[in-house]
Amino acid sequence: MVNLIAAGEVIERPASVVKELVENSIDAGAVRIAIAIEDGGRKLISVVDEGTGMDAQDLAGAFESHATSKIRTVEDLHKISTLGFRGEALASIASVARVRAVSRTRDSDQAHCIEIDCGDKGPVIPCSGDYGTTIQVRDLFYKTPARRKFLRTANTEIGHISEQFARVALPQGHLDLTLTHNGKELYRLTKTASLRERVGQLFPMLAGEPGDLIETQSDEKGIRIRALLGRPSVSRTSNQFQYTFLNGRFIRDKFISHAIKEAYRGMLEPNRFPVVFLFIEMPCDDYDVNVHPTKIEVRFYNANLVHSQVLGVLREQLLGTDLNTPARLPTEVLSGVSSEAAGPHARRQQIAEAMAEFFQKHRPAQQQQFDLRPQSTGEHRPSDHRRAIANRSMPAVEPSLQDHRYIQIHDSYIVEQTQDGFVIIDQHALHERMLYETLQRRLQRDSLESQRLLLPESFEVTDAQAGAIESHTDLLAQLGIELTAFGPRVYAVQTFPTLLANVPPTEFVQDLIDLLVERGDAVVKQDLFNVILSMAACKAAIKAGQRLTDSEIQGLLAERQQFESTSRCPHGRPTTIRFSISDLEKQFKRT
Ligand code: ADP
Ligand code: MG
Repeated sequence: MVNLIAAGEVIERPASVVKELVENSIDAGAVRIAIAIEDGGRKLISVVDEGTGMDAQDLAGAFESHATSKIRTVEDLHKISTLGFRGEALASIASVARVRAVSRTRDSDQAHCIEIDCGDKGPVIPCSGDYGTTIQVRDLFYKTPARRKFLRTANTEIGHISEQFARVALPQGHLDLTLTHNGKELYRLTKTASLRERVGQLFPMLAGEPGDLIETQSDEKGIRIRALLGRPSVSRTSNQFQYTFLNGRFIRDKFISHAIKEAYRGMLEPNRFPVVFLFIEMPCDDYDVNVHPTKIEVRFYNANLVHSQVLGVLREQLLGTDLNTPARLPTEVLSGVSSEAAGPHARRQQIAEAMAEFFQKHRPAQQQQFDLRPQSTGEHRPSDHRRAIANRSMPAVEPSLQDHRYIQIHDSYIVEQTQDGFVIIDQHALHERMLYETLQRRLQRDSLESQRLLLPESFEVTDAQAGAIESHTDLLAQLGIELTAFGPRVYAVQTFPTLLANVPPTEFVQDLIDLLVERGDAVVKQDLFNVILSMAACKAAIKAGQRLTDSEIQGLLAERQQFESTSRCPHGRPTTIRFSISDLEKQFKRT
């Protein structure tokens, strides 16, 4: 019973088993670990290491509850340097599955094995086997159907396993690690001294441009910090690419999350999250890991110091780096470029450089006089093509609006004269609201109208993301998005909603998938749709800082009439602020 209760806390799903077994292998000094999974871990989880191994006696003891070889005295408990120490994992796992363990120490030429079936322990017997330890866990939760029922599809479970795999692999660059699923190799990581390389092995999609991740480090006040910081331009819609490690252990900590958020303050839009890989090393007796069953939370004795060190190092690096992203060609145009001898990356680089040069030479005039008369200058700015497309969704201008009084200020707000005063409109917020409602109306009737891309755009995903794609094909179809698998962990966008014509498809789809990974389990489907639609509206809407032509402003104001509640954007911010002439007169003491 004790073990079953512990298992409830420690073993939630196959990924938890993988975590515990791999941590044990690392604690045993293994430098090569092979993980094999079948059927998302439901059928088999096997971990093979070349660590120190166990002799017959240790093997018998390892599955006892609270049996750990890692703590001998009370003092040890206060300075834990191993990943495990509670002595619960093996006992818990063996209480909810069929387990077979084979182990052999370096100085023995005899291996031993033991089998345990849901807590029912067999004898330790000699057998053949290599140095190190192999643990096989079969039929997880088969005697506890209530818990087995909670397991999701193999795809989802392997997604969680890959996530655990990444959490182990990131801080352990010196390890050779492999992960296979149903005989197919998902990852083969060879040891590397470079953090950047390890990140690239695990998340090729983040290592896109060489300058996208900025490296930094410091060693002050007893706290060593190393980090790879994503530029604001590679931010995501969730914090799933924020990894924090304390002495090689993945942790979640609200002080550290807050410090990261503060470090990026003012550099990101409010609903974006930076990509951050943060490694902290400090003396084991400066914090307590024994506060959470899966050890994912710790208690720092001086949390303020940790906060200020992290914030300081990150902020200083970010402020000291030129964060103006080199110009990048919008994806729509890129996909039309024919492939030449140069690799896609080199070509992209060349184009980016050419663009940057173009922008240097052709800076638009900094200051322009506002003119209330309709403009007819034929000037073209680099962003014009986007506006042209944005404009497509607006209706033709009614003649009565021609003598409407309005002015765009700071390329962000429209001041419009009304019958009894004037209003100030946030152009982005208003357009966003209108798009949101349009999307919602269309979706209520039918799925969104889409168009087929001339050249499918491919992108890489993690296993968790692939799982999210596979389990949400219906939802994607409703949104007018068709994705096809293009190879292992590569998908291509085939169709994309027409209403989002001015949004780069791959960028949108990647953010959407992040969202599905994060919120895909939403119980109320409408909630999920609302989040997706508000993200879509935000991306497709006219931006703040975008200069509009008169006809664009007129189009926006005219179309507004078709909507009932445009006074707030989907995020709840106001879109329009009203001022009455009588207010003005009071202010100017005219009355
Ligand atoms: P903990 O890791 O908290 O000590 P576990 O239940 O995970 O507890 O493991 C119990 C003990 O079994 C460990 O303390 C260790 O001595 C031994 N052990 C487990 N896995 C291995 C392995 N792969 N190689 C060598 N010893 C192991
Ligand atoms: Mg352990």
